Amino acid sequence: MYNHIEGNIYTIPVPLPGNPLKELNSYVIKDERRSLVIDTGFNMPECYEALSGGLDELGIDMQRADLFLTHLHADHTGLAPAIAGRDSKIYISQEDGERLARGLGKVKGSGRVSEYRSYGFSEEELSHLDDAPSMKYQHKERTDFTYVGDGDTIAYGGHRLQVISTPGHTPGHVCLYDKANRIMFLGDHVLFNITPNITTWPGFDDPLGHYVHSLMDISIYDVRVPLPAHRAVTCTMAERIGTIIEHHGTRIREMLDAMDANPGITAYDLSGKMTWRVRGKTNSWEDFPLAQKWFAVGETAAHLEYLLRRGRVRREFDGRVWHYYTE
Ligand SMILES: [Zn+2]
Repeated sequence: MYNHIEGNIYTIPVPLPGNPLKELNSYVIKDERRSLVIDTGFNMPECYEALSGGLDELGIDMQRADLFLTHLHADHTGLAPAIAGRDSKIYISQEDGERLARGLGKVKGSGRVSEYRSYGFSEEELSHLDDAPSMKYQHKERTDFTYVGDGDTIAYGGHRLQVISTPGHTPGHVCLYDKANRIMFLGDHVLFNITPNITTWPGFDDPLGHYVHSLMDISIYDVRVPLPAHRAVTCTMAERIGTIIEHHGTRIREMLDAMDANPGITAYDLSGKMTWRVRGKTNSWEDFPLAQKWFAVGETAAHLEYLLRRGRVRREFDGRVWHYYTE
């Protein structure tokens, strides 16, 4: 199945079973000579069927197509090796490409366990970190990427596409901008009825600060057709950027209030005091699925890092866990 966007641009909805994001929008620029497929879906059979089925219906021969990955997350990159033709280029930023090549399936050795322990996860919960979908559905092969960076241009099907570096959601996230047609392929940089997850990363400081800066960076472009990697478009890109920034501001104030009321709170417990909406409903922290807790606590930690770097909060380590205080 596929949907027509305009001209030679199409989207294939790829289901993400069990994931609150529901679907990935894989975009296709179709051209007789060489087509481009932007983002792929998880490395799992349901995704493969949907994507390869849609590509077949569109008449795309993957031997004459290249792949563009907006960022390293498994719902965007997982299927790339399975659908790539032998000579297909797989574009990704160097930052995310190197992380993908280094980190395939290896959480436990990468320091994430001690990081998540320091936020207040129990040992029982930490033993399941490898089950996170981001780890399970990554691909295990093909890392001969073609690196692209800010300002590079690629051309497919009559579209000149400029790469815009937008670090934040991942350290090397990029968007693609077609200036002549005022179209932007957004990846997960701007999503419309779900807020892109911002979390902490080893070797990438101040993710929330980077993210907000990257929202400003794309605000300077004139965008008529914003194309997010999940869900539909419900307002203009400029309106959505304003709402996302406001959301993070509200979240920060909520955290500061909770820290004032609970001096020495951990990131884990602080997350339990926030309001979270999963699948359109407000969830209590107790019923929160563990798979979503990694995201929630990571997001809280990213906000705390933003505040720490700007001297708005301080923290103390008790040998296992960080405790946070307002200044
Ligand atoms: Zn993502």
